[in-house]
Amino acid sequence: MNLSSATTAFQYLTALFGAFLAALWLSLIFWTYRDIRSRTHDTLVQILAGLTTGVMGPFGLLIYLVLRPSQTIDQAYQHTLEEEALLTEIEDQPICPGCGNRTRADWQLCPNCHTHLRKGCENCGRLLELSWQICPFCGTPVPGVRAELGLDPGAS
Ligand SMILES: [Zn+2]
Ligand SMILES: [Zn+2]
Repeated sequence: MNLSSATTAFQYLTALFGAFLAALWLSLIFWTYRDIRSRTHDTLVQILAGLTTGVMGPFGLLIYLVLRPSQTIDQAYQHTLEEEALLTEIEDQPICPGCGNRTRADWQLCPNCHTHLRKGCENCGRLLELSWQICPFCGTPVPGVRAELGLDPGAS
């Protein structure tokens, strides 16, 4: 092996290494671009992220990893959905007219202020709204209400 062939081999290796670096550099930019696109729709941010990695390579990628939005668009969307579901659940809970505390649909009394929320049917025992004059489950008229309203046919 003479000197010139050694030089050629060295040049060849250098070129190979350079090509490898270039490919690595490009794939870093590609990865960054793909990643930022799943995290924001902002074109300016996408270009900036690509440029950061493009100009500074692995260091730019490090900076990008620190600064990138923590959630992907998909994750952020899922998060919003979960929050909305939670809010709806809370809003669906009835509120005690007496003290404003949250109550449950199957409570007769408010445990906090003892306000009557519902009453039980005398016949079947199911819970009735206070405004109901007849049990929707068994058809038994609710005593008291009809008389109070003067609708009791037996009274006249
Ligand atoms: Zn209450
Ligand atoms: Zn009933």
